[in-house]
Amino acid sequence: MDPSQNPPGNLKVSDVPQFIMLTFDDNPNVEDMKWILDYMESRKNPKGSGNAKTFDNIPIRAAFYTNGRFLDASEELTELHLRAYQSGHEIANHTQNHYNGSAFTVDQWLTEMQLCRESFIKAGLPVDALRGFRTPFVAYNAATFEAVEAFGLLYDTSVEEGFTEDQNGSNFFWPYTLHAGSPGNRHSYEIGNKELIGRHSGLWEVPIHGFMIPSDSQSEEFGLDAGLREKIKRNFANAGYDSWDINSGKVTGFDWNILEMAKLDGEEFLAILKYSLDLRLSGNRAPFMFGGHTALFSSDKPDRREALESFIDYALSHSEVRFVTPQNLIDWMSSPEPISTGK
Ligand SMILES: [Zn+2]
Repeated sequence: MDPSQNPPGNLKVSDVPQFIMLTFDDNPNVEDMKWILDYMESRKNPKGSGNAKTFDNIPIRAAFYTNGRFLDASEELTELHLRAYQSGHEIANHTQNHYNGSAFTVDQWLTEMQLCRESFIKAGLPVDALRGFRTPFVAYNAATFEAVEAFGLLYDTSVEEGFTEDQNGSNFFWPYTLHAGSPGNRHSYEIGNKELIGRHSGLWEVPIHGFMIPSDSQSEEFGLDAGLREKIKRNFANAGYDSWDINSGKVTGFDWNILEMAKLDGEEFLAILKYSLDLRLSGNRAPFMFGGHTALFSSDKPDRREALESFIDYALSHSEVRFVTPQNLIDWMSSPEPISTGK
């Protein structure tokens, strides 16, 4: 599957689902993961025509990229992961120990993947279900992909995508296979951030697109004061990152970058999520990847929980939206079917 800004299978944009993938990394705490599982259980994808192949009318799904060591340490967390898996969510490999592997060899990656897999199997998860990988800290190198391929996984989701100037949130790439490398990786390589990764035919990349930040006039439409981008710029600089391109209006698509590094509140976070989704819906409906961490949604941060719940409900008010796992998305892309929105 080539990187493409058009939907697969020659389908018209108006015929494809707007896929959303909620993904949560690390997952060390029972209470935070239980909150989002409970919430998702109470929400279903739009009815459509009831077609299982377009994930109509089923409880919404997410993916959990968990470190094996957390399951080793907690029976309750293990139970919760089994419950998630049995409810249709995806559990995937995020290494055993969450080291920064940017200088890892292939063998070091493989060791961390294997230990994590063993922890998952010990927890009772079937090995066949464990098909995805995400690097800790988005810190991948060329060896990561050699290891992911050698480990026999279906996909990686560590590459940032959408940061070239010509991409504006409405024309992002759909997921692709790495048979000719990755456009997002090539861009990161050109700006000196990453090694160039090799070619890995058959290995899927489900990229992490940037979140789109509303400009001043757009912020007001979401009920925010002007100056959201300036605030991000200022707080990034305070965190030691002073080269953020304010005009691009794009931030790495993880909750951590918005909530912890840019120090935005729930209301601002919600505006960014809605704006990013609106651009997709007005454009090519490239799948929306939400990079999250359950631990950032603890019960003492009610504004964050409210923001994510509101975003889910806002998204579900659109008849073309389908919350799926990356595995679901790859299945669909391998044999794409149009949706019926019941209109
Ligand atoms: Zn992580």
